[in-house]
Amino acid sequence: MTLWSRLLGRPETPRALPAPDPRPETTSVRRTAWPDGTARALATPIQPSVVYGSAGPDSLDAIYEGREAGFTYAREGHPNADVLARKIDALEGAEGGLVTGSGMSAVTAAVLGVLKAGDHVIGADRLYGRSQRMMAEDLPRLGIETTQVDAGDAAAIEGAIRPETRMILIEVVSNPMLRVADLTAAARIAKARGLLLAVDNTFTTPRGIRPFEHGADIVIHSITKLLAGHSDATLGYVAARDADIRTRMRTFAVTLGLTPSPFDCWLAERGLYSFELRYDRAEANAARLAERLPGLPGIRSVTYPGRRDHPDHARAHALLGGRFGNMVTFTLEGGREAANRLVAAAEHIAFAPTLGDVSTTISHPATSSHRAMSPEARAALGIEEGTFRVSVGIEPEDLLLAEIEAAVRAASG
Ligand SMILES: *Cc1c(COP(=O)(O)O)cnc(C)c1O
Repeated sequence: MTLWSRLLGRPETPRALPAPDPRPETTSVRRTAWPDGTARALATPIQPSVVYGSAGPDSLDAIYEGREAGFTYAREGHPNADVLARKIDALEGAEGGLVTGSGMSAVTAAVLGVLKAGDHVIGADRLYGRSQRMMAEDLPRLGIETTQVDAGDAAAIEGAIRPETRMILIEVVSNPMLRVADLTAAARIAKARGLLLAVDNTFTTPRGIRPFEHGADIVIHSITKLLAGHSDATLGYVAARDADIRTRMRTFAVTLGLTPSPFDCWLAERGLYSFELRYDRAEANAARLAERLPGLPGIRSVTYPGRRDHPDHARAHALLGGRFGNMVTFTLEGGREAANRLVAAAEHIAFAPTLGDVSTTISHPATSSHRAMSPEARAALGIEEGTFRVSVGIEPEDLLLAEIEAAVRAASG
């Protein structure tokens, strides 16, 4: 038996751990084998290996061509990414999705893996900050023209179409004002005009909506947020309905090196085991918070798609079927000073610009996600110095509400 076949192991012939290479000069430097056995670990193993041995050139050919299962080199794919991708595929009703090194690399794969110079993209005008920058700066620099429109306005989407338009990129629920895109209209327009509809489903997750069932061609996630849920792994996911688009995104991602870390994939998969429980609890907490906040002193407005006074409530109801999510945005009277007082008073709640963590976090768009905008441009979106976005976590509801209420009262002086 060759050294390689010993290293690879033969699960059908269980045996004890092979002895290390007995020659003293090579014992420590040569690779050791993994113990074979008929029992299987319950928890997913972490496979950090950069490279994979195979039986020989014929077999390597077969693996590269997809005729045999296996891996070659971690940038091209590894077991922890595949395990995670298959789980998110199942949640999204997708096939052959790809896990990438961040949510932004998933957006990158969806756009640059598919489009070419001369193409035109229509994007929502309230995209995630970095997607926004990509639309405004990076794509035009690479020769891809962009137009940004209100994703809730079907006529504006339709009106932005040019002969070279190839793609529409939207988020179901926007940050931080939680506006709801007209996904149904976008899908109808994309289908009628032969465009690809790409949907970033990070805020809503497959628990809120499965965009493929509404006509999306590409679905994108920042796994970093609610799916992984513990703020310890930075990852993205992208899947396409069409096999040719999938191949183009995957080839681009492995060529440009948008590879995820095996350890991050392992952490995210571990986080996913409790995803539904976390989502449901955080959402229930968010709904209660959105009911409680308006009665408190110094609160100017409260934004939550589940509230009847939300401008897109009817659409949110129709699209999300009552799953309004864990994000709540509110604006305090008293500007920056009140905002500083609120953060100081909320001593057990992290002031941190992320979302989807198990514990509640609050962020201040004017100094984080939207700091690059002028105050006037922010005001046009409804973002003021007193505006906070709450990513509601899974804490006991009464305790969380009491903490936030005390902080709001402290802020109002
Ligand atoms: C965070 C986020 C991203 C980017 O994800 P990263 O994992 O931080 O790269 C993209 N889209 C939305 C809607 C996000 O919230």
